[in-house]
Amino acid sequence: MILPIYIYGHPVLRKVAQDIDPENYSHLKELIDNMFETMYGADGVGLAGPQVGLEDRIFVVDLSPLASEEHPEFKDFKKVFINAHITERNGEMESAEEGCLSIPGIHEKVPREDEIRIQYLDENLQAQDEVYSGYMARVIQHEYDHIEGILFIDKISPLRKRMVKGKLSNMEKGKVACEYKIRTVR
Ligand code: ZN
Repeated sequence: MILPIYIYGHPVLRKVAQDIDPENYSHLKELIDNMFETMYGADGVGLAGPQVGLEDRIFVVDLSPLASEEHPEFKDFKKVFINAHITERNGEMESAEEGCLSIPGIHEKVPREDEIRIQYLDENLQAQDEVYSGYMARVIQHEYDHIEGILFIDKISPLRKRMVKGKLSNMEKGKVACEYKIRTVR
């Protein structure tokens, strides 16, 4: 089932999401399926709990649509991150363009650490402790920020922030056009 994607201005996007109790979380499998379906329906490569209105620490990522000769490793990169916690951030700060399904029509350069270490439960509730770098680290950090109540526009330059202010205030007022199903604050 495709879920509505919550748009900038909705307070749930600013909540720090909480760890879930996966054993007693009803319909976890169904939620994961719905999150992937919603993400694919909107042509995204990542989607986090708050973006579908949940204050739960869960996000999904699938980089397979971006797999190429240069990046064959993206092909099998379809993952679920439950109760994720980034425990280390290393490497250089790198800037690259990002967008967000909750902030349609805005793409900006965002500086992020090149390497992270993250602990989480996968879709089979197995504990994982992994290190990622490059674009994988970027996508994971973007989604991880969502469960911390942080959005990529928080991290752009003051000049670019001023440039997108008008679009953002329209979104806050519910004035936003989108190809996929959305929910605005009003
Ligand atoms: Zn996002």
